[in-house]
Amino acid sequence: MLMQDKLSVRQQLLAKLDELDRRDGRDELIRERCNDPMDQVQTRFEMDMAISVINTDFQTRRKVAKALKLLEIDEYGICQDCGAEINPKRLDAIPWTTLCVYCQEEYDSSRMVGPKRYRRAA
Ligand SMILES: [Zn+2]
Repeated sequence: MLMQDKLSVRQQLLAKLDELDRRDGRDELIRERCNDPMDQVQTRFEMDMAISVINTDFQTRRKVAKALKLLEIDEYGICQDCGAEINPKRLDAIPWTTLCVYCQEEYDSSRMVGPKRYRRAA
C-alpha cells in the first residue's frame, strides 16, 4: 500500500472516530427516559432504537480502532479471518472493514439469533 493511500485511509478512519465521538447515543437515551411515562410503548421503542444505535456505534468504533492498528502493522486491507485481500471497492465503501465480503456474510449469518428473537418480541 502506498504511503499516500495509507495517510488518506488513516485520515478517514480518524474522521470516523471523531464522528462517533460527537454522536453519543447515550444523551438520547437519557433524554428519552425523562419523557412522559404515559407514552410508554413509544418511549420503549425509541429506547430500543437508541440502544441499537449505541451498539452499532460501539462496534464500529472497535472496527475503526482495529483498522487503524492494522494500518500501523501493514496488514490493512487483508481479511482477518481468511487472509485474503479485501476488495478495494469494499474498502472504499467501508474503510474500517477487517473482513472480506465472504467472511463478513458468514459472520453476519452466524449472528442472526439475536435479531430474530428481537423481531418476535416486538
Ligand atoms: Zn475472508
